[in-house]
Amino acid sequence: MKTIGLLGGMSWESTDLYYQQINRGIQRELGSLNSAQIILNSINFAQIEILQQQGKWKEASDFLTREAIKLQNAGVDGIALCTNTMHICAPEIIDELSVPFLHIADATAQAVLQKNIRHIALLGTLFTMEQNFYKDQLQSHDIKVTIPQVEDRKFVHKVIYEELCCGQIHESSRLQFIEIIRKLKNEGIQGVVLGCTEIGMLLPDENILNIPLFDTTKAHVNQIIQFMLD
Ligand code: GLU
Repeated sequence: MKTIGLLGGMSWESTDLYYQQINRGIQRELGSLNSAQIILNSINFAQIEILQQQGKWKEASDFLTREAIKLQNAGVDGIALCTNTMHICAPEIIDELSVPFLHIADATAQAVLQKNIRHIALLGTLFTMEQNFYKDQLQSHDIKVTIPQVEDRKFVHKVIYEELCCGQIHESSRLQFIEIIRKLKNEGIQGVVLGCTEIGMLLPDENILNIPLFDTTKAHVNQIIQFMLD
C-alpha cells in the first residue's frame, strides 16, 4: 500500500471525513485489520482564511507549497489537498513536487463522467464558483458548468464559512440549498457538484429533486484509495 500525504485542516471538519472515509475504504478493500497509511499535515485554517479574504493567493501558494514539501520530505508517495478552494494554488504546488498530486477536480470529473453527465451546477465558495481555476479544470474534461445567481452564491459561501466549517448543520440552510438547486434545475443541469468538502455534511443524500449530487470529498477519497492500492 502506498502512503498518502493529506494537506488538511481547511477545514478540519472535512479533513476528519477524509481520515474516516479513506480508512473505511482501505478496510473494505483489504479486510481484517488493514488501515490506511496516512501522514496528515493539518494546518490552521484561520491563517489561510485571512489570506483568502485579502486575495493574497501568492502568499497562500507559498505557504501551502512549503507544507506540501514537508509531507514529501516525510516520505509520502502522493499528496492530496483536502479542499476545493485552495486548489487555486495547485499549479504552483505541483511545480515544486516530485511526487504525484491528486487533483480534486479531476476526481470529481471522473465521477460525473461515469454517470454520463455533461452539464453540472457548481456549489462552493465564491472563489471556487466565480474564479476560473476549478471551472476550467472541469471544462477540460468536457463538462459544462453553471453557477447559481449572485445572491445564492453569497448565501452558499456564508453557510460554508459561518456554519459548515464550524461544524454547524442547520435545517434552514439545508432547505435553502435545496431551493437553490431547484432554481438551477430550470437551467438544464443534469447534476450538482458539491464543490466544497464540507457541503456533503449538509446534503448527505445522493439525489435531490431527482438530480444526482457529486460530493467532492467522496470523489477525492475514491481517487486516493485507488492510488494507494494501485
Ligand atoms: N473546504 C472548503 C472547500 O472545499 C472551503 C474552505 C476553504 O476555503 O478551503 O472549498
